[in-house]
Amino acid sequence: MSGYDFDLFVIGAGSGGVRGARVSAQMGARVAIAEENGFGGTCVMRGCIPKKLFVYAAGFAEEFEDARGYGWELLPPRFDWPALIANKDREIARVSGVYRRVLEHAGVAIFHERAFVKDAHTVRLASGREISAETLLIATGGYPSRQTGAEGAECCITSDDAFHLEKLPRRIAIVGGGYIALEFAHIFHGMGAEVTLVYRGTKVLRGFDDDLRDAVQDSLRAKGIRLMLETGFERCKKTADGVAAVTLAGEIIEADQVMLAIGRLPSTRGLGLENAGVAMRPSGRVEVDLYSRTSAPNIYAIGDVTGRIELTPVAIHEAMCFARTVYGGTPAAPEHELVPTAVFTRPEVGTVGMSEERALALGHTIDIYRTSFVPLKNTLSGRRDRSMMKLVVDAANQKVLGCHIFGPEAGEMAQLAAIALKMGATKEQIDATIAVHPTMAEELVTMRTKTATRAPAG
Ligand code: NDP
Repeated sequence: MSGYDFDLFVIGAGSGGVRGARVSAQMGARVAIAEENGFGGTCVMRGCIPKKLFVYAAGFAEEFEDARGYGWELLPPRFDWPALIANKDREIARVSGVYRRVLEHAGVAIFHERAFVKDAHTVRLASGREISAETLLIATGGYPSRQTGAEGAECCITSDDAFHLEKLPRRIAIVGGGYIALEFAHIFHGMGAEVTLVYRGTKVLRGFDDDLRDAVQDSLRAKGIRLMLETGFERCKKTADGVAAVTLAGEIIEADQVMLAIGRLPSTRGLGLENAGVAMRPSGRVEVDLYSRTSAPNIYAIGDVTGRIELTPVAIHEAMCFARTVYGGTPAAPEHELVPTAVFTRPEVGTVGMSEERALALGHTIDIYRTSFVPLKNTLSGRRDRSMMKLVVDAANQKVLGCHIFGPEAGEMAQLAAIALKMGATKEQIDATIAVHPTMAEELVTMRTKTATRAPAG
């Protein structure tokens, strides 16, 4: 047993920190954790969970419309924002309590206050108490960036604020073209707001497969979400009845709220990591090796604070690998390949593996299988949304390199497709799988016609 107060001190009780603390304790380590805000971190308090509840809330709008084609007569529905916020807050408090209890049951000592790294083995708490530990785990996550370079950014909201607005905005301008911008554009649109999406690039969701990006953009426009591409954001200014986003081209978009969704920054400011010699990038992200170890040999970092892949399940995976490496006696490096992901637009984006563009950039000659169709449910409802599915296959060995889906429940499908890709499935094995009929997912195993074969440039 070490001569320190604890074997492990974890800073940050988000998804990664809680998992790292709990599993390390279950492996026999004496563990303490500090959290200044809610237990569960971004995912539980102001990210994945409340966001998905909002996605469900917004989704009813289309469900009510679609019901008519199926014979339902409905009174015009009315949306009650304060009721949603109150119900959401109750559920988030419950889930956060579960996270805290999980730690207590594992025997983890909990400090509900801010912690600061005094030196490589000492943490100072906001109360002034100092605690020593053999190993530190930094899992402080991140927060929404306001670094636009635009004037008046202080009158904009971010996703943190969007969960607590007193009123549903009637008009909202959202700056950005990534996960959060697109998800909230659909959320606010579904709840009845007039939404303008202001994006600096030529096509939203940079880094995703181009066909997916096209499908998402077509769908945004078809729904009536105003999409302003190649549009810089110059300033936000207060107006008589709200705020206005002013673009670089001088166009003024009047709105009740302007929301910045321009990426997230690591929560390392004021944490004292420099006192322990922990190297950080200029952005503040903590540098780590393959095993999540920082430049200080007894200090590890996991999750968004490292900026590897900012997804909850990745932080949890990194936490499991940390515990196995330090307390399980088996060095385990987290894998960052074949990470499935979903963007909860309506319909959804679900994807795993390489985009067509990435496969070509990595030198693969590829076969493309692609289908686009109107889902059966849309026949009677008259909804015009099309779904798109695409497989990127290595032409040399027929291994499936990527699977990209735009359609209802695409996130659920991507999760299952990820198992096949992880096992190294070939197109022949996908084809040999019997379909579940009638489903959307059956399209994935019935795509027989090759759309194209492409070779890397040069
Ligand atoms: P993203 O990195 O996904 O997107 C940021 C967007 O903001 C990009 O379109 C980017 O443009 C644009 N941008 C960046 N800087 C500026 C600037 N100065 N001015 C104008 N536009 C700018 O970040 P998000 O904030 O959407 O989300 C953060 C992360 O959280 C995501 O990357 C994801 O990992 C995670 N997340 C996951 C979700 C999920 O799993 N469903 C949901 C929400 C978040 P460009 O493309 O040109 O760089």
